[in-house]
Amino acid sequence: MEVNLISDTITKPTKGMLDAMIHAQVGDDVFKQDETVNALEEKLAEMFNMEAALFFPSGTMANQTAIKIHTQPSDQLICDKDAHIFNYEGGGVSFNSGVSCKLINGERGTFTAEQVEQFINPPDFYHSPLTKLVCAENTANRGGGTCWDFEELKRIKKVCEKHNLAYHLDGARLWNAIVARNETTQQYGELFDTISVCLSKGLGCPVGSVLLGTKDHIGKALRIRKIFGGGMRQAGYLAAAGIYALDNHIERLAQDHKRAAEIRDVLSELPFIKRIEPVETNIVIFYLQKDIDEQAFIGELLSKGIKIISMGMGKLRIVTHLDYTGAMHEHFLNTIKTLEIKKAVV
Ligand SMILES: *Cc1c(COP(=O)(O)O)cnc(C)c1O
Repeated sequence: MEVNLISDTITKPTKGMLDAMIHAQVGDDVFKQDETVNALEEKLAEMFNMEAALFFPSGTMANQTAIKIHTQPSDQLICDKDAHIFNYEGGGVSFNSGVSCKLINGERGTFTAEQVEQFINPPDFYHSPLTKLVCAENTANRGGGTCWDFEELKRIKKVCEKHNLAYHLDGARLWNAIVARNETTQQYGELFDTISVCLSKGLGCPVGSVLLGTKDHIGKALRIRKIFGGGMRQAGYLAAAGIYALDNHIERLAQDHKRAAEIRDVLSELPFIKRIEPVETNIVIFYLQKDIDEQAFIGELLSKGIKIISMGMGKLRIVTHLDYTGAMHEHFLNTIKTLEIKKAVV
């Protein structure tokens, strides 16, 4: 049995999703004539009660477009040191927007309004970059699928308003936060200037992210997406998967969360595991004891058909997802419980 736990992006479309894709009505979306893409964008704008939305081939492009909309070259944005936009978008913040990042040393990918306030450069002090944008990430990926305290996000919004800063949410896994915390899409739509959401992570689509914002923001985003080479033609086949996922795959995330918590419970009993981060959604981050070789550990699991990933510096990650079945869960838990671990020779 093959068990792949490296990410929630490894899922393949379900039969129902493929059916929806095959039967999609499509047109040329570069001319805005693909009715299924238009329907997906309208559906999401409505769900978040935001003015407009735009379909993107990736979350990276959606985030990079948002950053481009809110900044000018030489400006600065504020984010957590673990933020995806800083760590995993290839340095795109500087490449695409000529912008620098001021990094907050936050708590598992989240930070406070006070920290934001401290990190804003005084706008009349022309020696330092002009602070223009605050980016939050919910759930926080490198933090271990951390859910933000919504009250803190509201306090940060007040700071943004006071200092005239734009406020962007990298919501690649916002669906997980909403399910885990029993929140609504509307409450996020009310708070942020722009939000990116991912359809190809927990929701199980093969491709796609969507950027939400005002009509003005999305008008600008359309031009920037073109410049980035992200205009797609009969993208309705992909958008149909998105519509299907929004209708069928959100509530079931609770099952991924339950299984992740069960994995945490088993890991916490194992002698070769030093520490596990709190598990709030579908991500389990843990650290091995110092005398256990990380690559040997990953290799041992691999020899039993189980794939997990290293995030560097002794940090290991497991992500549960739509294609992780009950049988796989049982197999994984039994395997890890009985794993023979060789200590590294020091
Ligand atoms: C995956 C992810 C993205 C975007 O990723 P793509 O692979 O470009 O779609 C953005 N932010 C976070 C937090 C992510 O986990």
